[in-house]
Amino acid sequence: MTEFDSTSHPKVSDDLLNQWQTMLDLLAEFMTVPVALIMRLDKDRITVCVKNNAVSNPYHVGEAETLLGSGLYCEEVVRSNAPLFVDNALNDPVWQDNPDIEKNMINYLGLPLRWPNGDIFGTLCVLDSKTHYYDDKQQGLMQQMQLMVENHLELLEKNHSLQQLSHHLQCLADTDELTGIWNRRAFIVESNKELQRAQRNKKPVCLLMMDIDDFKEINDAFGHEVGDEVLKLFTHCLTATKRAYDIFGRIGGEEFAMLLPETRRSEAMELAERIRHKVSEIFFHKHHREIRLTVCIGVYELASNDTTILAALSKADERLYAAKRAGKNMVMDCIS
Ligand code: GH3
Ligand code: MG
Ligand code: MG
Repeated sequence: MTEFDSTSHPKVSDDLLNQWQTMLDLLAEFMTVPVALIMRLDKDRITVCVKNNAVSNPYHVGEAETLLGSGLYCEEVVRSNAPLFVDNALNDPVWQDNPDIEKNMINYLGLPLRWPNGDIFGTLCVLDSKTHYYDDKQQGLMQQMQLMVENHLELLEKNHSLQQLSHHLQCLADTDELTGIWNRRAFIVESNKELQRAQRNKKPVCLLMMDIDDFKEINDAFGHEVGDEVLKLFTHCLTATKRAYDIFGRIGGEEFAMLLPETRRSEAMELAERIRHKVSEIFFHKHHREIRLTVCIGVYELASNDTTILAALSKADERLYAAKRAGKNMVMDCIS
């Protein structure tokens, strides 16, 4: 995902900074000035973001001044959100406290740089140690560069929005709409990743297959909407019981699965028992009737020849149905 800077706009990449650097080198030559800078606003400070590479440039990247009352030319550009030209600052007492003058930079031409929403990014400016007037072509080039940097900023924002959108769509595609946990497809993808990691590190992994008992009766007695509420409640109960790194998904209807990394069969049995017990404590009232839930859980420890999760799911499923056959509200880790 996009990194953010302190202004909550996307971070400017090193590639882009390098492009700007090349551009400033050319700008300084064309304008015949020792200094060309892109300054960057950072909360209440203004920082040298990029500078032309010339020995005569006394500024350093990262150098910053607190903005309010700094006396800098750039502060005036940021404040007015407008271009500024100063032919010779020594002729105007308004600049007497300007730190740029300490660097002997008495001449200035600067333009504001804005994010697409109008927030000020900073300034593009050239400075000189002597009175200097810029012809139309030179001023035109500065304006073109201002436009180009602002276009870059717009592209950064658009790129960021696209990344956000694609992340959002990916989340939607991976999420079970009703319960908000992984859907079957995403559960399989995530579990396969975890399985590969576990097999590389020779760690045990267990799988739980769960199916709510007599769920059809709840639907029949209370309606599909109440059935949906029950599925959400069940999910909530399990999400609160599982460990942070357990992978939990809805496989279909009222069937759920959980992959337990770094867990041996005996530990998986303990967790499954805890889940079974917690679910059996769920009850609520609807239409003056009490709804209680129970669940069956099949527990399977993956073997080294279980290279994908699909085969393991059917093994855990066999154990789940052994639990159903044995009378429901039960945990089972073998078939008989
Ligand atoms: P068993 O104890 O053997 O698991 O019985 P059961 O009634 O739970 O299982 P069965 O497979 O007979 O019924 C499952 C029901 O789950 C049938 C189906 O309508 C219902 N169901 C599946 N998906 C949803 C859903 O998203 N919402 C609701 N409310 N019901 C669902
Ligand atoms: Mg079922
Ligand atoms: Mg069921």
